[in-house]
Amino acid sequence: MTTGLPPYDENNIFARILRGEIPSKRVHEDEHAVAFHDINPQAPVHVLVIPRGAYVSLADFSTKASDAEIAGFWRAVGQVARELGLESGGYRALTNMGPEGGQEVPHFHVHLFGGRRLGRMVPGVQG
Ligand code: AMP
Repeated sequence: MTTGLPPYDENNIFARILRGEIPSKRVHEDEHAVAFHDINPQAPVHVLVIPRGAYVSLADFSTKASDAEIAGFWRAVGQVARELGLESGGYRALTNMGPEGGQEVPHFHVHLFGGRRLGRMVPGVQG
């Protein structure tokens, strides 16, 4: 099946982090997911959770990943937030997809933000 999505770039920065070619401050790793601190944090806690598999974005992951990878990945997202102590105050989980979503790194990742009141979900939207 063709999806119209770009091919996976084996040398994107998160692929290199997964291979250990670039350092990262890891907070969690298991069979399906790795989590590490964002290099340019936008909140007191800002962690990225990525699948080990080669998926460009949520569109790619939701299309091609196995049920076990999808379940394992999303369980890890919740587990990482719990382990970081974010559940009591609350947190935000966010993924950017493609140019209009503002995605910069073409390996699917979920941002976890916490540690302060995060404000509006999408800047610039009135109402
Ligand atoms: P996105 O715009 O959703 O693709 O977000 C990419 C995120 O990756 C940004 O928040 C960057 O600060 C972060 N980032 C880029 N390079 C690294 C790196 N080497 N280690 C950790 N985070 C990174």
